[in-house]
Amino acid sequence: MPPAPAFAKLAQLGHVPDWRQLDPYQRTITRQEFVRLLDHCYARKPDDYAGLIDLWPDRARIRRQSNHPGAGFYDFYFLTDRRKPVAIPRYWKTPWEFSAQPANTHRVLEGIHIVIDPGHIGGAWADAEQRYYKIGADTIPVQEGDLTLQTARFLERNLTALGAKVSLTRTTLEPVTDLRPADLIDEARTYLMQRNSLPSDALVKRTAERFFYVSSELRTRADLVNDRLKPDLVLCLHYNASPWRNPYRPAFRPENHLHLIVNGCYSRSEIEEDDTRLEMLLRLVQRTYYYELALADEIAKTMAHETRLPSMGYDGSNGKSVNDNPYVWARNLLANRKFLCPVVFFEPYCMNHREVHARVQAGAYRGLREFNGVYKKNIFQEYADSVTAGVVRYFRSVR
Ligand SMILES: [Zn+2]
Repeated sequence: MPPAPAFAKLAQLGHVPDWRQLDPYQRTITRQEFVRLLDHCYARKPDDYAGLIDLWPDRARIRRQSNHPGAGFYDFYFLTDRRKPVAIPRYWKTPWEFSAQPANTHRVLEGIHIVIDPGHIGGAWADAEQRYYKIGADTIPVQEGDLTLQTARFLERNLTALGAKVSLTRTTLEPVTDLRPADLIDEARTYLMQRNSLPSDALVKRTAERFFYVSSELRTRADLVNDRLKPDLVLCLHYNASPWRNPYRPAFRPENHLHLIVNGCYSRSEIEEDDTRLEMLLRLVQRTYYYELALADEIAKTMAHETRLPSMGYDGSNGKSVNDNPYVWARNLLANRKFLCPVVFFEPYCMNHREVHARVQAGAYRGLREFNGVYKKNIFQEYADSVTAGVVRYFRSVR
C-alpha cells in the first residue's frame, strides 16, 4: 500500500470532515433515490464519483480520504423497508411542516424564516473583490456588493410585510469575517505548495485575497446561517456581468439576461475534496434539491415576467440543466453548498449592460421611469418584487 499522503484534498479553507455527520441519516433513503439524486443533480457526469462513492446493493461505500485508500470507507446503508416512516434530521422545515394557510391571507409567509444573503461585500472592498467598474467621469461606480445590499433591503420589507421572519447575513458594506488577507498568507502559501511546487509571492498574495473575500467571508456567513439563524430558506442575491473584453478598459456589453441556480453539478475534482464530498452528501440526504428546485422554478417564472430578461445557459461543463426551465441551472458554489438548507441563488441583470448601468445611475426612485421606451420600477424594487411574487406563489401552492 502506498504511504499516506502528507495532506488530504480539501476545498479552500476547508477542514478534514467528520463522517459521523452522516450517522443520523443511515437507512433514511432508498438506493434508487440516492442514485437518482446523485446522477440527475449532484454529479456533473455519471462516472464523476466512481471510486469515491461506490454503490453496493445495500450501501454506498464512501472513501474517507480520496487520495489515501488506507483511510478506509464510510459505509452508508440504504433504506430497504419503504413502509417504515423515517425522520430526516434537518434544522429547516419543509413546506408541509408549516401550519396550513394562515388565517390572514395577506400574511402568506407567516411562520417562515427566510435569510437573505446580499452577495459580496461592496463599499471600500468592491475593487479588491473585483466587483467594481466605472464608465464615464461623473458617474456612480457600479459595485455588486452595494447593489445586492440595497436589493436586500427592498426584499426584506416585502417579505416581512407578508409575515415572514427575515434575517440578513450582512447589513453593512463591511466583511462579516474578522480575518483579512494578511491573516491568510500562510494558509494560501500552504494551499499552493500542496498543488504546485514554489508559488511566487504575488500568487500567494492574490490567493490570500481570494481566501479572504470568497472563502473566509462565505464560510463565516455559513456558520452564522447554520449555527445561529437556522432558516427555512436562503435567498442569495447577486447581479451578473458578462465577461469583459478588456477588464482594464471597461466598455458596455450587449448581453443582459437572467438565471437562477440550485446546488448540483459537482465535478470529479470537487467530489475528490473530502469536505466537499461530505457536504454534497448532506444536501443529498436532506433532500434539499426538491425544495430548491420547486422554488427556483416558480421564482424564475415571476422574475422572467417582471424583468423581461431572456434566459442564460451553460454549456454543461460548469452548469447543468435539471428540468425544462431554461432559467434554472445546477451549479456547485460555495454559498449554495455551505448553507445547509434550501438555497436559491439569483443572477439577474448584467451590470455592464448599458441599460442596467443607466438604471443603477437612476438609483432608488419612486414610481416608474422610462428606459428605452419602457416604464420601469427602480432596479432594486423590480428585482425584489419579482422574487417576492415567486416566493408567494410557491408557498400559496404548497401550504
Ligand atoms: Zn455575484
